[in-house]
Amino acid sequence: MQSLELMPRMIDCMIEYQNNLQTLRLKELLYSAKNVVFCSHSSPDGDAVGCLLAFANFFDGIKNYSFVLPDPCPEFLRWMPLCDRILDSHNNPAELNKAFETADLLVALDFNDPGRLKSLSEIFLSSNALKVCIDHHPLVYDKYDALICTVNTSSASELVYQFLMDCSSDHPIDKNTATAIYTGIITDTGSLSFSCNHPSTYSALVNLVNAGVDGAYVHTMVFDNYPCERTKLLGYVLNDKLIVNPQRHFAYYAISLEELDRFAYRDGYMEGFINYALNNRNVKLAASFVEQNDRVRISLRSKGRTDVNKLAMEHFNGGGHVNASGGSWYVDTGSAIELFLEVVDNYICD
Ligand code: 5GP
Ligand code: MN
Repeated sequence: MQSLELMPRMIDCMIEYQNNLQTLRLKELLYSAKNVVFCSHSSPDGDAVGCLLAFANFFDGIKNYSFVLPDPCPEFLRWMPLCDRILDSHNNPAELNKAFETADLLVALDFNDPGRLKSLSEIFLSSNALKVCIDHHPLVYDKYDALICTVNTSSASELVYQFLMDCSSDHPIDKNTATAIYTGIITDTGSLSFSCNHPSTYSALVNLVNAGVDGAYVHTMVFDNYPCERTKLLGYVLNDKLIVNPQRHFAYYAISLEELDRFAYRDGYMEGFINYALNNRNVKLAASFVEQNDRVRISLRSKGRTDVNKLAMEHFNGGGHVNASGGSWYVDTGSAIELFLEVVDNYICD
């Protein structure tokens, strides 16, 4: 019988073997397709945009691919190379529909559940094009013609890096491609503070810096480039809205549309706020409730074994990772908080 200590290594080997097969298949499909649409999820973050722009830059001038998002790219990522190539359903509906109509291959990046495409999920699912996926979320949908999905990888951008390294015998990863991947890794790991316990993440970053990434520039553009209303909104949330309950190990805040308007809110402004709620001693689970026109957006973060993916899936029409997940609530904020307070104790773990 194998010793238990060997098990994780054996599982790693099996995943690697499986990924190698899927990588070969994905490469084959990508290189034989004529019209490829790369897409990522709604409320796009740095990883979603990083994955798309890694492919956009890598194949720039070589293949004329399309890159789509259900929502516009948030302001804090618009500096990224070739960001203007991304079509979104608000600003470019006609071009985007045409791209889907003529596509013979759809590439899902940083999501596997087509529901995460929101307004684009129907056009994605009903398309006759072949479908492939590169992701690091727990699998909820696996009907792909090739699928690379490992949940313990820092980011989908790191998986895209591995994939493009495999394609790089034709041409090496250039500075702009490297910058897109680097941004995806840095944003999805909270500047290397979580989901980055594997040496592969650091090897990737070394190679990306060697390819020309200016880490300080990326940091400035992503984290030090907000309008001051955003900083004031952060102050308001932390001072006036945050509720911490160390006895029950949770913290949360809720914010209304009226309050967001007061601070000239734009998409992406609240990225990272929730980490301040989780920063508190004895807090194992943090939640934010952000009112939107048609729903309440819920973000969840946790420490250790406290599983917010389960909480998001079981109560808030969402999902994500064990320590970072999100969802939506279609009634009012008050009832979302009521439900949260009713069930949260069941999810807190040591
Ligand atoms: P955030 O709180 O930053 O919006 O999302 C945190 C994590 O949860 C991300 O990995 C994101 O992909 C995932 N996530 C956010 N919202 C949803 C959702 O509505 N459904 C699912 N399945 N995952 C989500
Ligand atoms: Mn991601």
